[in-house]
Amino acid sequence: MKSHIPDIKIEEIKSRANIVDLVSEYVTLKKAGRNFVGLCPFHKEKTPSFTVTPDKQIFYCFGCGEGGNVFSFLMKINQMAYPEAIRHLARKTGVVIPERVSSHEEKEQISLREQLTHINHIAAVYYSNNLFSSVGKEAQIYLKKRQIREEIIREFRLGFALDGWRHLKDFFEREKISLKVAEQAGLLIPGKDASLYDRFRARLMIPIEDVSGRVIAFGGRIIGAGEPKYLNSPESTVYIKGRNLYGLNRTKEEIRKQGYAILVEGYFDLILLWNAGITPVVATLGTALTREQVDLIGRYTSHVAVLFDPDEAGQKALERSLELFLAGNMHVRAVILPSGYDPDDYVRTFGKDRLLELIARAPSMVDYYIENVMGDRGTFEKDRDVLRKSLSFIRHIDNAVERNLFIKRVSEKLGIDQDILKTEISHSMTASPNAATKQKKHPGTVDLLEMNLIHILMMHPEKLAVMAETNILNYFISPDLKSLGEELKMFATGPGHFDAVEFISRLDSGVLRERLLRKVIDESSYDEKVLDRLLADTVKQIKRRWYREIKKILMIKMNKAQEAGDMNLCNELLNEKERLLKEERTQVL
Ligand SMILES: [Zn+2]
Repeated sequence: MKSHIPDIKIEEIKSRANIVDLVSEYVTLKKAGRNFVGLCPFHKEKTPSFTVTPDKQIFYCFGCGEGGNVFSFLMKINQMAYPEAIRHLARKTGVVIPERVSSHEEKEQISLREQLTHINHIAAVYYSNNLFSSVGKEAQIYLKKRQIREEIIREFRLGFALDGWRHLKDFFEREKISLKVAEQAGLLIPGKDASLYDRFRARLMIPIEDVSGRVIAFGGRIIGAGEPKYLNSPESTVYIKGRNLYGLNRTKEEIRKQGYAILVEGYFDLILLWNAGITPVVATLGTALTREQVDLIGRYTSHVAVLFDPDEAGQKALERSLELFLAGNMHVRAVILPSGYDPDDYVRTFGKDRLLELIARAPSMVDYYIENVMGDRGTFEKDRDVLRKSLSFIRHIDNAVERNLFIKRVSEKLGIDQDILKTEISHSMTASPNAATKQKKHPGTVDLLEMNLIHILMMHPEKLAVMAETNILNYFISPDLKSLGEELKMFATGPGHFDAVEFISRLDSGVLRERLLRKVIDESSYDEKVLDRLLADTVKQIKRRWYREIKKILMIKMNKAQEAGDMNLCNELLNEKERLLKEERTQVL
């Protein structure tokens, strides 16, 4: 993969970046010997098999086989293209990449994702400038009225979209920014005559950022009268509501530090709570909670307090999110505000400490659910409904301790013996596709001899000349490893610095990539003294095997020729065998 960024810059970024720090922004890591481990962000797991090795600046998951270096991590976790990952890390490490001469062709290569986040970033700066200039009076007055401090306004990069149809569009035109991309980002929309106009008008603008801080969308709150109160960017390649949580890139450290997250419904709730000094908060983006969002929170904490509205819609949402939290192995509490209060009203009326107290004393969501949502008992029919509901519910609880707790509570509520309940559940679980045993990924096979040689040479690129000297690739049996060897061989003659992890990271994912990464993480490099012997020995073994295989094939051919009475062919094959035996003696001493 080419990036058009000078190799020397990529090296500089790599040497300044620390993979442990980088991964820690997304995964909670614990030290384990010379490695760090955590729960893998790329597959579901309960015990950590995701490993980061600072010595080698590499990550590898023993569960799903994902692995690589700082760039591959960013590419995978943020769905970034390679050049985008490099530039992202350059900004973080303070490495300045020279503005490239961007030919039309190069511009085409910049991914759409990058173009969209870039244009959103420009819009965010534009809106922010509006807010802090004389044209932003209206918004300033509004924010003052809501007592939002200036430092919060700057922290969350709030801005203002002027009242009018073409302010942003004119600005983009002046700056020679592609209106087509602006339309794809949802900032401009086509009117009846197909000309474009501003989507956001007379609104307080809230940039929505992903976990890595890229602006992926906007929320706009009307200032003064008008409908709708909140207007959001449409979903796009970079913005899928159910996959993001508002504020997490700013609040994740607080969440980790304080050991829990407060989940609220909207970005404004989050900003207002942060303004009041309550910081470990995340917000959904106006849609029902999703499993992906639960997993996203789970990277930073397993304890969540959900602030919600106890109306009917709120109760339904709670039921659904409780399922997700339980399936995600999270401990979750239900914080109910008095009716008529949103989080901001509550803090303003009773103060920050009262809210924190309310959160601390909040019942677990399971208890709340059983008491208030599951339904009243009474008649036989009602009891049966409650039972049916709870059975389907319990199936989602992965954690055995939680499940038993839930069973105990339900049995108390319904007055049913716990054992009977458990039998019922195990029946319904075997019948359920959810409970089907997870399919274990089939590992596939890799030729160990050939892989060992490739691995040794990767770790000691100064020995790459061995390949040319011994012609060893001609004796490879596995075509995949052979072509990998060919690629590797090019580095022996080519200029520049060879980086094993980088090399492996660029491979297509598959067994080979997985195995090589695992080897790199598992094994330390070889001692200079044994290295040459080890190399010579591996080369010899590969050759020996090749001759063995080829002789086997010859024997089969000879048998066939004899059966067919083809004496000419027999003699030819015999000569060939003689030649091979001689050759083998010179090759494999
Ligand atoms: Zn994994």
